Amino acid sequence: MIAYLRKNRDKAKRPAVFLDRDGTLIHDRPGFYLTDPAKLRFYRYTFKALKLLSGLGYRLIVITNQSGVGRGYLTLGASAAINRRMQANLAQNGALLDGIYFCPHGPDEGCACRKPAPGLVKEAAKHHRLDLGRSYLIGDKLSDMRLAGALKLRRVFLKSGHGRSQLKKYPGPLKKQVIKNDLLAAARWIEERQVKVKMKVKNRKSRRR
Ligand SMILES: [Mg+2]
Ligand SMILES: [Zn+2]
Repeated sequence: MIAYLRKNRDKAKRPAVFLDRDGTLIHDRPGFYLTDPAKLRFYRYTFKALKLLSGLGYRLIVITNQSGVGRGYLTLGASAAINRRMQANLAQNGALLDGIYFCPHGPDEGCACRKPAPGLVKEAAKHHRLDLGRSYLIGDKLSDMRLAGALKLRRVFLKSGHGRSQLKKYPGPLKKQVIKNDLLAAARWIEERQVKVKMKVKNRKSRRR
């Protein structure tokens, strides 16, 4: 489902960074379901990291499982309101998202949108012109990495949020991932990779001369 979609006149095809929400952009802890927009707490580096990524030319798309709705902890309307509040707070701080997509279902509902199912990324790809082959997914759970793997997206696993406990729980599949401490470290790593790719292209061109 869509909580937010930016009206965008930019028709160019761009890569995206798909962002998990809880434990990636905002604080999260085990067994906690965010039900009150007043309890929304960004990590101190979230604005900076998002600005860095959009400056690199990526569309910023949040992909989030919100099973608290399916479990009856909050209504669909309340969940959408929290997501819109998050978008507004980010925008006030100069971090502009392109979309927020959420799955409101519980784990046993067998929907097509709960991560690692690819439904939300596919929905986003219908609304934005995306270069998926150059896109990234960043998250703090194995389900994020599984989703990225299924769609062959580049990916970064974070130690923030549930990251450290997930690493203990699923060391096999997670230790194979690129692992960074937090979203800002991930954004800087993506920036470095871009610089390296650009330098290679430049070197190739200058050699041709
Ligand atoms: Mg998360
Ligand atoms: Zn779903």
